[in-house]
This record gives sequence, C-alpha cells and structure tokens, in this order.
Amino acid sequence: MTIVSNVTCPVCGSLCDDIELEVENNIIKNVRNACGMGESKFLGYSAHRPLKPLIRKNGELVQATLSEAIKKSAKILAEASYPILYGWSNTSCEAQRIGVELAEEIGGVIDNTSTICHGPSVLSIQDVGFSTCTLGQIRHRADLVLYWASNPWSAHPRHIERYTNFTEGRFRSSEWDKYLSNLSAYRSERRMQRAARLAGEIGKAAAQTPPSEERMQSLPHSLFEKERKMIVVDVRRTRSADLADYFLQVEPNKDYEIFQALRLLLRDEELEVDSVGGVPTETLEDLVDVLVGCEFGVLFFGVGLTMSEGKVRNIEAGISLVRDLNQYTKFIIMPMRGHYNVTGANIVSTWQTGFPYAVDLTKGYPRYNPGETSVIDILSRGESDAALVVASDPVAHFPKQAAQNLVKNPLIVIDPENTATSLMADVVLPTAVCGIEAEGTAYRMDRVPLPLKKVVQAPKTCLPDEEMVQRILKEVRRIRKQAGGG
Ligand code: SF4
Repeated sequence: MTIVSNVTCPVCGSLCDDIELEVENNIIKNVRNACGMGESKFLGYSAHRPLKPLIRKNGELVQATLSEAIKKSAKILAEASYPILYGWSNTSCEAQRIGVELAEEIGGVIDNTSTICHGPSVLSIQDVGFSTCTLGQIRHRADLVLYWASNPWSAHPRHIERYTNFTEGRFRSSEWDKYLSNLSAYRSERRMQRAARLAGEIGKAAAQTPPSEERMQSLPHSLFEKERKMIVVDVRRTRSADLADYFLQVEPNKDYEIFQALRLLLRDEELEVDSVGGVPTETLEDLVDVLVGCEFGVLFFGVGLTMSEGKVRNIEAGISLVRDLNQYTKFIIMPMRGHYNVTGANIVSTWQTGFPYAVDLTKGYPRYNPGETSVIDILSRGESDAALVVASDPVAHFPKQAAQNLVKNPLIVIDPENTATSLMADVVLPTAVCGIEAEGTAYRMDRVPLPLKKVVQAPKTCLPDEEMVQRILKEVRRIRKQAGGG
C-alpha cells in the first residue's frame, strides 16, 4: 500500500491540493480529506469507462486501433472548412495549449465551457477590470465573506472549510464553533415553531413566519462585530444560507437593481422607494454599513448572476460596487468557477491568442466576438462542418438546435468517460483521467496554477489528452503537407 499525499482534486474550481490517497496494485483504495464529489471521482473514475478507440462504420460505433482513430480524426479536421474545437475545462493546461495550436493549424474556432457559465463574468472583467487576490489571502485576512448567487456548500463543498469562514487564518479565526451553536439555536427555533403549531391558533400565526423572513427585518449584531462573518445573497434559502450569519433573500432577476441601490446608498444618496428587489430599503442601508465597516471583504459570485436576467450587466454592477467600496475599505470580488480547470482554459487561450474563449482562427489570426464566434451561436446558425470535443458533454448541455447541428456533422470526442456526446460521435478516443492517471497543470479559481498528479497507471490504450491532441496535430500537419497546404 502506497500513500500519496498532497494530491490536487480534479473536480471543482476549488482545486483542493491536500488530498491523500491510499493506492494498492494500481487501484485507489481510500481517499482522505476530499468532499463527497472528490471522493467519488477518485474511487469511481474507472467504472464504466471506454478503453478502446471507436469509429462509426455503417451507423455503428466499432472498435478500432489508436492509429486508425487518430488518422480518421486528423482527416476530418484537415478537410473541414469551419471546424469547431470545444470543451477543454476538464483537462490540463498542457492539452489546452496544443488545442490552440491545432485550431490555428486547421483554421477553426476554439471555445471552452465558460461560453455557457462565466462567459459574462469574463466579458465584464474585460470591460471594467476587477480587484481580486488569492484564496490564501482571503483565508488569512477576510473578515466579511459574501456568497452572492452561489451555493458553495453544494457546488464547492470544501470552499468554506479551506478558504473562508471555517478555516483558521493567521489573522482570522474559524467560525465553525459559532456555526454549530447557530445550528442548534436554529433547530430549537424550528422545534418550538412545530410545537406552537401543534398547540393551536396562536402557535399557527407564529409558525407561519419562516425564519428567513424574520431575519430579513433586521441584521444580526454579529455582522457589526470584529470577528469573521458570512452573508449569503440568493433567490432561495440554500444549505449555504443555513451556515451564514445572515441570509438576504432577493427576488429572482433583481440582483442588478440591488447592486445599484447599494451603490447609491454608498454615495449617501436617498432611495425614494420602500424596497428594492424584495429587500426593504432599511435592510439595504444596514447592509451598506456592514460592507463599509469590514476590514477586508470579499464577494464571491456564482452562475446565479451570469445566468439570470442582466447577465454581463449584473457582473459589471457587482464589480462596480466592489470598486466603490474600495474607497472606504479593502474589498475584492471573485467568480466561483465550476470545472476544475475552466480558469486555465481562459488563461491558456489568452496567453496564446489574446482572448479567453470563443476565438475564431479561420482567417489565420484570432478574432473574438462572443455571440458570433462562440460555438453555441455557430452551431445554432448551422455554420460549422466538423467538431472536436475534448472532455466535455455538449450534447447533454447545449440548446437543442445547437446539439442537433453538432451531431449532424463529423464529430470527434476525446474523453475518458462515456457521455451523451461520445455516443453520438464518429470517432471516440478514450484518454487517461487527468489528475489521476496523467499529470499536468490546472488553475484554481483565483488564478493560482497547481500541479495535477499521476497516481495510477492508465490502461495502455488511453493516452493523456495532451498526447492525443498532439498526435492528431502531427497527422493533420502530415496530411496538409502532402496536399501542399502546410
Ligand atoms: Fe474536490 Fe472541489 Fe471537493 Fe475540493 S471542494 S475536494 S476540489 S470537489
């Protein structure tokens, strides 16, 4: 039995790098420190995986040799006039780098999954800039943490434990004990309400007031104290909201109005309305006092902002609020990135082309115009004539029209897993699981690069993504040279 420590978890953008694995006979037997999502990936990554390359013949996917599958993929891409290369967020920066090279070689469009998640955040950051820092600085220094339209307890389960309120920082202490006592107080409150409801009419009236509404009336004293505190802003009460010192429930699609109202209040202007986005004006006034009163605040935001009405404008308003707050105190803002290396996909694409996603290289130089050069738009217009999908499942997630047009044309899938997209593909190239069977680099949500470890051997037929893309690129170059186009 070998113990491998300091392994980076290749699941979500938190990239926890303290995972410990027990490995025996090339099998991961036990996982320590990971959350449920991380543990299930380390223990179950090889169940139901494809092991051999597949090529579609007479409508059926049949086994093929690696060199056959690579030759067929290269031929499809070399012959296409408007190919798209999509995915890239669940693989290493090394594979992403070669992906951009391949897109340039074949004159295609390279896009990553931020096109359907934090694309609006990327656009807003380009427009107005943002003040940010590392998760390490937040851990040691932040005394006010806002999770806005994100639910870390479910989507990034160790985020709070490793980087914010439940971690022991150099200058801030963990709020874990406070959370436990709040939880028991909350449970007793619920028990009393239930008892009151059973007791009769008076009890019924009391029981009808949900705790969230009670808490909306006034902000708790703890928010004005020096210790570390957490506020959750969301359209519904989530598990993360249960952990927070204060939960601010807003009406759906009203985040933009609330950000702008907070900015007005910050400038000492008066709101001539009783409430904004379902939040009483007095509550917003108190909230501004809390924001200004902290020593180091951080606003983490999730796809609840990028996918609701307002999209880019929501993020711009959030960034502007943070910028305004920096006239009074230290405040930073950070998107909660989902896929473990979606940040890397943006960074690598920017290194190489100058643009973070939706890069069109058909003219021999990079063009960037999301809405025109993003793959969903290209597919919806039915313009592409071939596709390479790497470590992603667009058939399961794209709008119907885009998915239909994707599978109409020749489709190559590079993925260690069986997905809806791989079942529709013309060539399937199974690969080693990055971060478990192949090493590489990934960027955490705060843009800190971390090493991904190889802890077990991959099956012989499953090359790392990087090598697979490199082989296709080599074959494409050979075909183009032969045809006189290289
Ligand atoms: Fe892995 Fe994310 Fe869980 Fe950390 S929080 S162990 S990175 S899934």
